[in-house]
Amino acid sequence: MNIVRVALDVPLPRIFDYLAPDAAINDVGYRVTVPFGRGFKTGVIVGLAAASDQPADKLREVTAILRDMPPLPGEWLALCAFCASYYQAPLGEVCTFALPPLLRRGKLPRAIKPGGGKVAVSPAPGFTLPELLPAQQAAVSAINRAGGFSTFLLHGVTGSGKTEVYLRAIAEVLERGGQVLMLVPEIALTPQLEGRVRMRFPAAHLVTANSSIADAARARGFLDALHGLSDIVLGTRLAVFMPLPRLQLIIVDEEHDASFKQQDGLRYSARDIAIWRAHHRAIPIVLGSATPALETFQHALSGRYHLLDLPDRAVAEAPPVVRVIDTRREKLHEGLSGALIKALKLRLEHGEQSLVFLNRRGYAPVLACSSCGWISHCRRCAANLVVHLLDNRLRCHHCGFEAIFPRACPDCGNVDLQPFGRGTQRLELALAALLPSARILRIDRDSANTPKKWQALLATIHAGEADILIGTQMLAKGHDFPRLTLVGAIGADAALFAADFRAPERLFAQLMQVGGRSGRADLAGEVLIQTEHPEHPLFQALADHDYSRFAQSQLSERKVAGFPPFTFQALLRAESMTMDSSLAFLGQARALADSLAGDRITLYDPVPMRLSRLMTMERGQLLVESASRPQLQEFLGRWMEALYKLKLPRGLRWHLDVDPLEF
Ligand code: ADP
Ligand code: ZN
Ligand code: ZN
Repeated sequence: MNIVRVALDVPLPRIFDYLAPDAAINDVGYRVTVPFGRGFKTGVIVGLAAASDQPADKLREVTAILRDMPPLPGEWLALCAFCASYYQAPLGEVCTFALPPLLRRGKLPRAIKPGGGKVAVSPAPGFTLPELLPAQQAAVSAINRAGGFSTFLLHGVTGSGKTEVYLRAIAEVLERGGQVLMLVPEIALTPQLEGRVRMRFPAAHLVTANSSIADAARARGFLDALHGLSDIVLGTRLAVFMPLPRLQLIIVDEEHDASFKQQDGLRYSARDIAIWRAHHRAIPIVLGSATPALETFQHALSGRYHLLDLPDRAVAEAPPVVRVIDTRREKLHEGLSGALIKALKLRLEHGEQSLVFLNRRGYAPVLACSSCGWISHCRRCAANLVVHLLDNRLRCHHCGFEAIFPRACPDCGNVDLQPFGRGTQRLELALAALLPSARILRIDRDSANTPKKWQALLATIHAGEADILIGTQMLAKGHDFPRLTLVGAIGADAALFAADFRAPERLFAQLMQVGGRSGRADLAGEVLIQTEHPEHPLFQALADHDYSRFAQSQLSERKVAGFPPFTFQALLRAESMTMDSSLAFLGQARALADSLAGDRITLYDPVPMRLSRLMTMERGQLLVESASRPQLQEFLGRWMEALYKLKLPRGLRWHLDVDPLEF
């Protein structure tokens, strides 16, 4: 056994063999440094062998087996292997991705904190546990009783007490000496939740994992988890790869959130991998949401997942009143209806907070010349440059390209350039003019572009130093604003008839989430939605707080149309300097697929992507679909094998996206 099989970060679907005269049988899982080409690479040993398929004179010797940290456990390797096979990615790329950057480079952080094992689960002094509502109690009992693999969908609106249920389930696991993995969508969400978890389990060793944590700390967290020293790992999608030898419970909060799916590189869904992991370990997993992904909800309807419903808000308060405002016959003032303006004024008089939700940042989506028809295009993308008036720039929201605001039309010299449409900056100026006494705070990725600024904005809101908040969906997530009693949503119609079949699902989730911010115990909340389609079932279901009705109607539409979750999809994308060569490659891939696909696989024609040019690359896509996941998987495996053998034209890149969320 002197051959080690090494997973290396190389974009090829293969493992590399090396000679290792002193390798031992239990070296699987160690990181290893090996010569590669003219340099060196660090990889992970995934197997040992007595002989190699490679000719003996081609085999090189490992440089060093890094035994300075414990080997990565078999379960971790199995997780990577599953991820590699499901997403058709090279195992070496997955293993490398799953390690924190420092460990990828073959280094180690210093000093590891002791801890771990059975933890006292009493909360911080002075903290009394609330008595659970019956529905919460039922949920906690069901989770605690699971005694093996089981997927729970914890469905309840914001404030229904989902987090309280998580905390009780965590307490139970800690008492048994287990580890808990808790995944959350956004870094910005973590501080609040982290505080709550720390206060509840002051004696537990909590590790946080997200991409904004410095390299050394991230590696230390990973090692703490690997050593079994951490009790709770709380993190974003990448935390799903944390090695956790005593893992007994996984929680995925806001499971519907698209940020669980990585949109570049390794295109994995942390929620889906977490479910596999729970299955592999035979432990329960809890998916929590007010608006579950339709994929998830369908499983709950079919009985594959256990539905745990929290029908009421935990603290006695009425749900906000949702009203739809018909804007068809009204002349809007800067996009605002009379009813919304009146409601804003009323809140201002009462000293209460309002939020105006507009999911588009910048001043206006495009700048146009009134005389020749020129509009602000990005030179590198098939997209418009967005007007940012505050710093006098035009900006591409896709590639980051920036240009100074032109004084005159670049085509005809006309100085009358007009911004068209509306973004948060324009709304901010309009509201300031309309309500001069109001303290207005805009929260979007421009005003909150660092965690520090974001925290400062939140602090201002909580201190009651803002009367009107203007925000994109950033503001919709996981924050309690005690004095917020009015939410107005404008510009929502765009998503109703979008080409993306998931757009209504996202809109419903966003409006539900943002609406859930309004109203507290002593202050009733109101949500006003401006629309030209007041009779649309989406708004009606929203007004009735009826997620289930909305979900079922969407599901029946999807069933008829043959969309997920009733079919499974994969998207092959290609990009190059010309659309012709991108589509030609996809045509070649399509021809290969034709010869490999059985009759249960549907192949579509190659087409340009919706954003057909990004950073000067011309992009095309080819959709593949099947009603059978195993058959799709089997086909994809064979197809990829053939695709990897194709000789590519210069500058052409391709990737496969399994279960794509964006088209
Ligand atoms: P969610 O996670 O669904 O938004 P939380 O668990 O955060 O809901 O609960 C909302 C609020 O209600 C929190 O302030 C929480 O402390 C409180 N709460 C939760 N459960 C109860 C309960 N059984 N009794 C009293 N208060 C509760
Ligand atoms: Zn012009
Ligand atoms: Zn661009």
